[in-house]
Parts: sequence; C-alpha cells; structure tokens
Amino acid sequence: MMYIVALTGGIGTGKTTVSNEFKKLGVDVIDTDVIAKYLIKPGSNLFKKIVKKFGKSILENNILNRKILRKKIFSSKQNRMWLENLLHPLIYYESFKLMSHLKSKWCIWVVPLLIEKKMFNKVNRIILLDCSIKNQIYRVIKRDSITKQEVKKIIKIQASKKKKYIFAHDIIYNNSDLNDVKKKVYILKNFYTYVSKNIVHKKNI
Ligand code: ATP
Repeated sequence: MMYIVALTGGIGTGKTTVSNEFKKLGVDVIDTDVIAKYLIKPGSNLFKKIVKKFGKSILENNILNRKILRKKIFSSKQNRMWLENLLHPLIYYESFKLMSHLKSKWCIWVVPLLIEKKMFNKVNRIILLDCSIKNQIYRVIKRDSITKQEVKKIIKIQASKKKKYIFAHDIIYNNSDLNDVKKKVYILKNFYTYVSKNIVHKKNI
C-alpha cells in the first residue's frame, strides 16, 4: 500500500520548489497541477468544454492562457466552481492511477486545495507549506507579473492559514533561502522513508 504524503499550501508558498527538492532526492512526486495541464491540453475533451464555456478569448496560439483563465475563475465563484467540478474528480482519479503504478513505498502528492476540497482523508500525512503573507505576495508578483490586488484576492479565497494548520502534520515555513528548504526536505524525506517502511513491515506480519 502506498504511503501518501500530501504537500499543500497557499499560492506561491513554494509547493513546486519543495516538490522539486524531494524529486532531487529520488522521491516520486505526483503533482496535480501537472495533471491538470495535461488534462486541458489542446484538443482534449476538457479543453473543448472550457473553450465552449469561456469563449475563444481565453486562447493564445490555440493554447489555454492560464493567466486569463485564472482571472475568469477568481472573479466569479460560479466560474470557479464550474471549473473545479469539471477538473477535480479527474485530477484525483489520474493521481491515484499514477500512484498505483509506482514501485516506491511512499510518494509526495502535490495538492494545493487539499484542505478546501476535503481530501485529507485520502492521505497518510500532510505537509503544509507556509511563509509570510509579504513573501507570498512578493514571490507571486515576481513570478507571474500579476497585481498585488489579484494575489490578495486569491489568498482570500483559499482556506485560511488557521484552518490549514489544524490539518497539517508537518510544517515547512518557507521564509528563508533555498538552502533552508533543502535541509528541511532532507529531514522529512528520511522520516517518511522510515515510517513508510515500518507501516508495510507491520502489515506483512
Ligand atoms: P502556486 O501555488 O502558484 O503553484 P507554489 O506554491 O508552487 O505556487 P513556487 O512556484 O514553488 O510556489 O514558488 C513561488 C515563487 O517563489 C517561485 O518563483 C519560486 O522560485 C520562489 N521561491 C519559493 N521558495 C523560495 C525561497 N525559499 N527563496 C526564494 N524564492 C523562493
């Protein structure tokens, strides 16, 4: 049985950065964002449904422009729910399908909306990524060149920090440099490797 470690956290808290560090240590990473990008690739059923819903103005060179799409969904709850209901069941289905093919005892599952979508019962362990709001806003503006107001709006829609902390088993407070992230990831990797081995061992007795 796969020991699933979910990696969650608000926008720009460093989920991709941290999951890349786990990957470098040889850990299998299943990223729901990567699956979503695959599901909405040009010509797919979901791509057609999304274009039908929002019109061709969301296309750029026949590819969905994620920035425009993000604007559409974060300015309307109805649009956001429509897209989430369309995408999420498939993303979770694909995630578990991918996990069933893994040979390792544990994996990292990157799920930004784990808490919001009440998926916490599907996993063994939850890592919450967090950083100061100031850093979060600064990093997203720098990465995506969007406005401060837009980032604030997205943060407001996502589950509150307080709620996320209730569900978390492990916290990575990503407020320092990448070396600090590497150290924290290394410690957690050793811990999950130990725990996942132990669980399988007990089950085999
Ligand atoms: P999203 O929720 O939008 O998918 P994310 O949680 O995956 O974002 P990242 O993309 O990993 O976050 O990080 C956001 C930005 O902050 C990136 O440009 C990344 O390079 C930068 N970043 C993350 N962690 C650090 C750090 N410790 N020091 C400096 N920059 C960082």
